[in-house]
Amino acid sequence: MTDRTPGFDTLQIHAGARPDPATGARQTPIYQSTAYVFRDADHAAALFNLQEVGYIYSRLTNPTVAALQERMATLEGGAGAVCCSSGHAAQIMALFPLMGPGLNIVTSNRLYGGTVTQFSQTIKRFGWSAKFVDTEDLDAVEAAIDDNTRALFCEAIANPGGYITDLDALAAIADRHGIPLIVDNTTATPYLCRPIEHGATLVVHSLTKYLTGNGTVTGGAIIDSGKFNWSNGKFPSLSEPEPAYHGLKFHETFGPLAFTFHSIAIGLRDLGMTLNAQAAHYTLMGIETLSLRMERHCANAVKVAEWLEKDPRVAYVTYAGLPSSPYYSRMSRICPKGASSLFTFSLKAGYEACVKLIDSVELLSHVANLGDTRSLIIHSASTTHRQLTEAQQIAAGAAPDVVRLSIGLENADDIIADLDQALTKAGA
Ligand SMILES: *Cc1c(COP(=O)(O)O)cnc(C)c1O
Repeated sequence: MTDRTPGFDTLQIHAGARPDPATGARQTPIYQSTAYVFRDADHAAALFNLQEVGYIYSRLTNPTVAALQERMATLEGGAGAVCCSSGHAAQIMALFPLMGPGLNIVTSNRLYGGTVTQFSQTIKRFGWSAKFVDTEDLDAVEAAIDDNTRALFCEAIANPGGYITDLDALAAIADRHGIPLIVDNTTATPYLCRPIEHGATLVVHSLTKYLTGNGTVTGGAIIDSGKFNWSNGKFPSLSEPEPAYHGLKFHETFGPLAFTFHSIAIGLRDLGMTLNAQAAHYTLMGIETLSLRMERHCANAVKVAEWLEKDPRVAYVTYAGLPSSPYYSRMSRICPKGASSLFTFSLKAGYEACVKLIDSVELLSHVANLGDTRSLIIHSASTTHRQLTEAQQIAAGAAPDVVRLSIGLENADDIIADLDQALTKAGA
């Protein structure tokens, strides 16, 4: 290989993957094995002591999953990555080394509905809590951070409205308070946005969405920038002696890979939210065409959003890729190649018309997913954001008169024709 840095299209195919050393297999095999034979007793002891890196047991590490981890770390520009069983698992795994009873996170209120529930309800069982703020109000973000805050959390392109977050401004605030900025980059993918270049410490993903890209896999990933100082006194799990590893200090021992090693050696070992090899294989396949798909997703989304915006039955469209969006000007800085294909629109005729519209589509699929080759539609207020109060729904961009679209890779004209006939049937 020459010393030139390969481009994204090359890395999405080659990073982390090499011909199988045993067979020469060109595609990354599905290593469907629970355990790995040790060379001898000394080798086993070194692996268990974290003195040597290798495979022990597939709850912790697996060669197919390792290839995907290396690819994700490379595409996001991070030092290391850990994969896990879902996007929601990735969020718990990202917080786990940072948090403890009585500690909190400050988070954007524009989030995937399931994340709002996870942060406002479920994490309380661990003694953790979350403070929800409008991240457009930087003073409110700053004011919400206290001595017990251990992370600032947001989505780069926020579900469901497709709003673009000012990552640089949030990173500067997190930095001043000695806490990591965690960015959920699911909707943007590393092709459209690279949060680490904007100051993020950790990037989390639902691999379930655009990364696999075809609705076959549930998976998650956490990528660490490797740049954060975990020894600033706030993160004892990473800086202090770990009793379960003979007093090993993760930050001192592993430096920029401290978070990644901790997430495997403690997180996956004890929480067990492991990604299986087959899911990792499908995801690797999907990522090989990520840039091509994201370009088409964005181009189709622009066409559909422009058509909807001109339609008299539509009250408004939230797509950040429309020049009329207040977030359009942020695109060139945060996600210059496009604003992804997730956005909402509102019907003048209100809630009932939204429900009828969903029941009238033919090409679009009514499902609770996004980032598929197929175009998807959902009425967030009665589904993904159903557990939220109306105030939370409105804050999250999922008001009762709003429909969410995830524009797929079909011909844009066919997507538009289907929406047109469904709007007519809905009496909108
Ligand atoms: C889907 C999604 C999640 C949760 O991921 P799962 O793989 O479904 O657990 C988290 N964040 C965002 C932005 C999502 O779209």
